[in-house]
Amino acid sequence: MEQIGIGTSGLKSSRVGLGTWAIGGWMWGGTDEAQSIATIQSAIERGVTLIDTAPVYGFGRSEEIVGKALAEGGLRERAVIATKLGLNWKDGKVYRDSRPERIRQEVEASLRRLQTDVIDLYQVHWPDLETPIEDTARVLADLRREGKIRAIGVSNYSPAQMDTFRAAATLDAVQPPYNLFEREIEADVLPYAKENGLTVLSYGALCRGLLSGRITAETEFEGDDLRRSDPKFQQPRRNQYVAAMRELDALARARFGKSVLALAVRWVLDQGPTIALWGARRPDQLDPVKDIDGWQIDDDTRREIDAILNRCITDPVSPAFMAPPEKRPADMNTQAVG
Ligand code: NAP
Repeated sequence: MEQIGIGTSGLKSSRVGLGTWAIGGWMWGGTDEAQSIATIQSAIERGVTLIDTAPVYGFGRSEEIVGKALAEGGLRERAVIATKLGLNWKDGKVYRDSRPERIRQEVEASLRRLQTDVIDLYQVHWPDLETPIEDTARVLADLRREGKIRAIGVSNYSPAQMDTFRAAATLDAVQPPYNLFEREIEADVLPYAKENGLTVLSYGALCRGLLSGRITAETEFEGDDLRRSDPKFQQPRRNQYVAAMRELDALARARFGKSVLALAVRWVLDQGPTIALWGARRPDQLDPVKDIDGWQIDDDTRREIDAILNRCITDPVSPAFMAPPEKRPADMNTQAVG
């Protein structure tokens, strides 16, 4: 598996990372603990060393399962644990909270759930517009000095927000949405990361399954699965994305003998200093990991990919639907959870 450094932290990671949002169950129609543990252990065995999680994924469940999988498998030393801070919740409602006192609580709760004494990459999940960014950054710099975390990242931040953050603390990584269908960061965050030596953890590398090859116009989702309301999965738009996926699959097979899933992940890796976060909750979903290394997408194919996207997707939509509310509810200013 290809490797990449994370900012200036000295940490090294595989270029594919395992995403464990679905492993938490919440917003993905539930979770199966035994399958999830097997998936995490299988990822490490396949050379996928970075495991991305967050407290909010299943309200602690994803972190607990990651901690259990690594501890039971004796795999902690081989893993790069990337988790997050800055989203709090009450009665299933999520809100942004990166106040210093909350971060101090969160880091201890995450260390406990993850069964470790250090978090490798600690990322602010969403910018908290009601807390000065410098205050958040300074606590993270302190946590690094104290040895509780090794590298610092932000997620869903703009370049201006990252400038403010970097005036108070060294930043190693940024985690934005990025895949063949969601390319907004090419205008700002990606060039910013390249210029400033940040590693980009691209989330939703498979566009929540739309680039896996499995989704059709008929695919149905169960329970609280977010794809029941994700605008890309609603008709008539879903047909456009499925049509693009089919054409991309045909192109990948004809040119490289690969599937659309492998093309989608390889494409992310060929765009810059990236790690592709690939969400999986069953070990067999990681079988195509073997198809990612050892090839590259040439410029001609890149142009054909763009032509397919432009032709098929006439009504594109961004992943903005996932953003938590910007304002904290008034009664949650003193709330401590976690
Ligand atoms: P994703 O990686 O784009 O897609 C995951 C989906 O792909 C799942 O639905 C899974 O299917 C499907 N899949 C995976 N491997 C497959 C295979 N071999 N064959 C068929 N289908 C396959 O979505 P994601 O989980 O949203 O994003 C990846 C990670 O990025 C997350 O887990 C999380 O760690 C991170 N993330 C971060 C943020 C943030 O705000 N920082 C936001 C979103 C995601 P099933 O449904 O069938 O299991």
